[in-house]
Amino acid sequence: MDPAAAARVEERARIVIAARAAGVRDSRVLNALEGIDRRLFLKGHFAARAYEDTPLPIPCGQTISQPSVVALMSEALEIAPGHTVLEVGTGSGYQAAILSRLARRVYTVDRFPTLVREAQGAFGALKLANVVAMVGDGTRGLPMQAPFDRILVTAAAEDPPSPLLAQLREGGVMIVPVGRDDAVQTLVKVRRTSAGFDYEELRPVRFVPLLEGLGHD
Ligand code: SAH
Repeated sequence: MDPAAAARVEERARIVIAARAAGVRDSRVLNALEGIDRRLFLKGHFAARAYEDTPLPIPCGQTISQPSVVALMSEALEIAPGHTVLEVGTGSGYQAAILSRLARRVYTVDRFPTLVREAQGAFGALKLANVVAMVGDGTRGLPMQAPFDRILVTAAAEDPPSPLLAQLREGGVMIVPVGRDDAVQTLVKVRRTSAGFDYEELRPVRFVPLLEGLGHD
C-alpha cells in the first residue's frame, strides 16, 4: 500500500476507535463503520473533518450525526441480517449506509428532496443495492412498506410518533431521541411486546428537531 493510502486507512480507523471508546462492542457494527467511508457523505471543507467524532453541518441546515452516536444507535437496534429497517431522517445518508450493512433492506425518508437526492448519489457510489431513500414526512412512517422489524428516528421528537409505533412489528425495536429542540434529549429504546410497548432510556443526546410536513430547499 502506498503511504497516502495507508494514511487514509489509519485516518478512517479513528471512527472505529471512537465507537469502541463509547462502549460499542458489536463486531457487525464495528465492521460496518470500517467499511463505509464517512467522507463520501460530506461536502466542501467539512469533508476534511470526516473522521472526527463530531457532528458536522450538511445542506438544508441539518447535521450528520456524531460517528460514535451512529454506532451506539446501530448497536442498540439489535439488527439481524433478515431485518427490514426504517430510518426517519436520511440527512447525509451515512447512518442509512451503516444500517444497509446490517439489515436485509433499509428504507430511509427525509423531508428535504435535496438531501434525499444527494444521499442516493452516495448509495450509488458505494453500490449499496438494499437502501431505498424517499422524500416524505417520516412522522407518518411508510404505511405501504410496514411493518418494520426496526425503526430508527434520527431527529428529536417530543413524543414517539404514534404512526411509527403502529408500524413497528411485534418484537420490534425503535430507537428515538425524545425531547424538545432547545433542551437535552434522551435516546429512548422502545420494544413492542404482545402486551404493548416497553420504554428504556439509554443516554442524553442532541439532535435537530423532527418537523412535520415537507421541507423547502
Ligand atoms: N441520519 C442522518 C442525520 C439526520 S439529521 C445522517 O446520518 O446524516 C436529521 C434529519 O431529519 C434531517 O435531514 C431532517 O431534514 C430530517 N427530518 C426532520 N423531520 C423529518 C420528518 N418529519 N420526516 C423526515 N425527515 C425529517
